Amino acid sequence: MRTIPHFIAGAHSAGDGTAMADVFDPNTGTVQAQVPLGGDAELEAAVAAARAAQPAWAALNPQRRARVMFAFKALIEAHMDELAALLSSEHGKVFDDSKGDIQRGLDVVEFACATPHLMKGEYSSGVGPGIDVYSMRQPLGIVAGITPFNFPAMIPLWMSAPAIAAGNAMILKPSERAPSVPLRLAELAKEAGLPDGILNVVHGDRVMVEAITDHPAIKAVSFVGSSDVAQAVYARGTAQGKRVQAMGGAKNHGIVLPDADMDRTVSDIMGAAYGSAGERCMAMPVVVPVGEATANTLREKLVAAIADLRVGISSDREAHYGPVVTAQHKAKIEHYIAMGVDEGAELVVDGRGFSLQGYEEGYFLGPTLFDHVTPEMQSYRDEIFGPVLQMVRATTLEEAINLASRHAYGNGVALFTRDGGAARDYAMQVEVGMVGINVPIPVPVSYHSFGGWKRSAFGDHNQYGEEGFRFFTRVKTVTQRWPGPDADKGNAFLIPTTA
Ligand code: NAD
Repeated sequence: MRTIPHFIAGAHSAGDGTAMADVFDPNTGTVQAQVPLGGDAELEAAVAAARAAQPAWAALNPQRRARVMFAFKALIEAHMDELAALLSSEHGKVFDDSKGDIQRGLDVVEFACATPHLMKGEYSSGVGPGIDVYSMRQPLGIVAGITPFNFPAMIPLWMSAPAIAAGNAMILKPSERAPSVPLRLAELAKEAGLPDGILNVVHGDRVMVEAITDHPAIKAVSFVGSSDVAQAVYARGTAQGKRVQAMGGAKNHGIVLPDADMDRTVSDIMGAAYGSAGERCMAMPVVVPVGEATANTLREKLVAAIADLRVGISSDREAHYGPVVTAQHKAKIEHYIAMGVDEGAELVVDGRGFSLQGYEEGYFLGPTLFDHVTPEMQSYRDEIFGPVLQMVRATTLEEAINLASRHAYGNGVALFTRDGGAARDYAMQVEVGMVGINVPIPVPVSYHSFGGWKRSAFGDHNQYGEEGFRFFTRVKTVTQRWPGPDADKGNAFLIPTTA
């Protein structure tokens, strides 16, 4: 059985090897590898490597760090197909979608090539007699990233690229369900010229996560995963004085106004609801048509589009989506479908019982559509994270906006309309962090930043963009005075002012 090693100080490491987890191929339902579940010993080794390497890396002029990022970008591009196949084999998303996962991470690597500019501070001359003030951004030292299974390339790169480009050493703890791509990325970073110890990968589960949040040498933790874990990591890390950004789950609404281009809207909703088997934090598991006529037309067109959906193995180039990640996750989704029925929602299309010939043990689920879902239902309030679309009918735009605003999660939301005024009002009013207007999955580009509101994110800074650099750096401000021999000494006992 293949074992996926840790990557510490630029080398593979088996760790103490006592606890292991299975890594599945979700297409076949078989165990394809094992990953060690590390703890204090592996983390200490990674911290020691990071501590040894980080000062020299931070002292390097930023253009040299940028050159490593340029080389890293070129290597990821050169290995795109290999990385995508590896990603699909552990996650189950289809090959082209895996390439998209990698590309969205690559975009952040490209942005991080601007580190010489992004690390620049501010300068004010003459704030007082002979006094100038300047500020600089300095790296934090050793930082950590903890990532979920659903974007094994994009999210590790969201965190690692700004962290290391800014001069930190990063300890990355990827999901134990999809650990190979993060490891491969660290190997490529080394090949690009990144010094050993600057990007370490340690595998594990809750034990490793808690060791990271408790380790005094780790100054900041960037987390992405489900909300309860995000909140726990945020509470534990900040209680120990760490900087923590912790992104959580989602339940994104797509609001459809009567004037929307219905065919385009249906195509967008299909991709956002069922793409990647619904396992995206910016998926669209809830659709809110405004008005009965809109709802009826939408439902009819969705049912027809669902009939044309192709579910297949992740290497099937014709498939729209592949299996979900594990048997356990499949059972959880099926549980929520049963719950929706029990709660009185109308099950229009039932994806349970789907079987793919030749892959009967794979974790496949057909597309599911519910209508007449109401806000009181638990299946609406919870994140399902599968190929399940719930329709909640609204009578006015205001009611639709309130649904999204009052939901506990506030990651993304989308509005489909031709009415610019309505779109503007909705963008201003809705209590959600990322808003799409005729854009179903409004994941901001790498030079903006990513972050939800409410239970979708704990902490202050968004991921990537300038926000990412702010999270992984701290500001130092220098006030300097070069008084001439005749300068007024003033009263040293009073707080200096510019009055
Ligand atoms: P998860 O919360 O199970 O795992 C995330 C990370 O936390 C993993 O590295 C895992 O090993 C670790 N972990 C799991 N349980 C833990 C515990 N009890 N204590 C400490 N650490 C623990 O999430 P997942 O299932 O891998 O990913 C899917 C979730 O991530 C969904 O809720 C999805 O919405 C969310 N997500 C959010 C974003 C975002 O940016 N908001 C992006 C992607 C995914």
